[in-house]
Amino acid sequence: MERVIIIGSGPAGLTAAVYAARANLNPLVLAGGMYGGQLMLTTEVENYPGFPEGIMGPDLMIKFREQAERFGARIENVDVTSVDFSGTPLIVRTSDDEYHARTVIIATGASARWLDIPNETKLRGRGVSTCATCDGAFFRDKHIVVVGGGDSAMEEALFLTRFGHKVTVIHRRDSLRASKIMAARAQAHEKIDFIWNTVPVGVLGDEHMTGLRLKNVNDGSEYDFDADALFIAIGHTPNTDIFRGQIDLDATGYIESADGTTTNVEGVFVAGDVNDLRYKQAITAAGAGCRAAMDAEKHLEAMEFSAVLS
Ligand code: NAP
Repeated sequence: MERVIIIGSGPAGLTAAVYAARANLNPLVLAGGMYGGQLMLTTEVENYPGFPEGIMGPDLMIKFREQAERFGARIENVDVTSVDFSGTPLIVRTSDDEYHARTVIIATGASARWLDIPNETKLRGRGVSTCATCDGAFFRDKHIVVVGGGDSAMEEALFLTRFGHKVTVIHRRDSLRASKIMAARAQAHEKIDFIWNTVPVGVLGDEHMTGLRLKNVNDGSEYDFDADALFIAIGHTPNTDIFRGQIDLDATGYIESADGTTTNVEGVFVAGDVNDLRYKQAITAAGAGCRAAMDAEKHLEAMEFSAVLS
């Protein structure tokens, strides 16, 4: 019987592991086949406090992992395939094993949606990004494209005007999904242009992005478009497939939590982007991981105290 199992190994999961390990809970982290979360896909991280010169995303996650292991967290690079939260103990399964736990911290994160177009993967971190907060500053005085028509796209476009000499929003329809106020703000901005009814069908460039191949969805015509950076803002998908039917999710698939750590299942806590539609930052995920571990510890204490009394 494990006292705490942490599912996921981004900033939320590994911070939870540091705190749980230092509380002598001997946590088991089921880290996923590819540990480290979304930061493993970024280049330089300049907004994580404590690294004034910046740090590469994967290097930061190695440090998170080393810190958790230093205090005794056991980290297995395996994917969780299913859970059963219908009774006690809580059950977590991988393809080879079944684990029983008194508490579980879910920190499986969210994945930015990508366009799935040629050259997009190759030029990730070299012009192509899904995070303006992380990568915008690399494109000072450049021509930046944002794809999407929702609030995220407007927010990213407005933020990117601080860096780019011009920001072009490319949207697949002729009207925006974004809230009126965000849409109006973006449309009024002198640095922001819109291209409607259009989707990128390829990223151009070898070492770095140099442009996009665009397609007009009305007449099917295609043309090349010069730009230095592409920020894709077409939404995130929370990684909650394995929890469906086991725990309350909201209409968009995020795990519901009234207070940011507890869920509708006793003993199951949540931290990070899997519960955060709003901030989606490494530092906020790390903070949430800390809170979830402290709440799991309190829950265990209460369980163990009532076991002594009975
Ligand atoms: P979203 O509202 O789902 O918008 C996604 C946008 O991407 C839509 O315009 C959609 O086009 C487009 N899109 C989706 N798949 C695409 C594809 N394959 N190719 C091209 N375009 C594609 O997602 P979001 O903007 O990330 O917002 C998510 C939630 O967070 C929303 O509730 C939003 O209000 C909220 N949010 C709020 C704020 C804020 O208030 N400050 C900031 C960010 C997000 P269609 O319009 O044609 O579907």
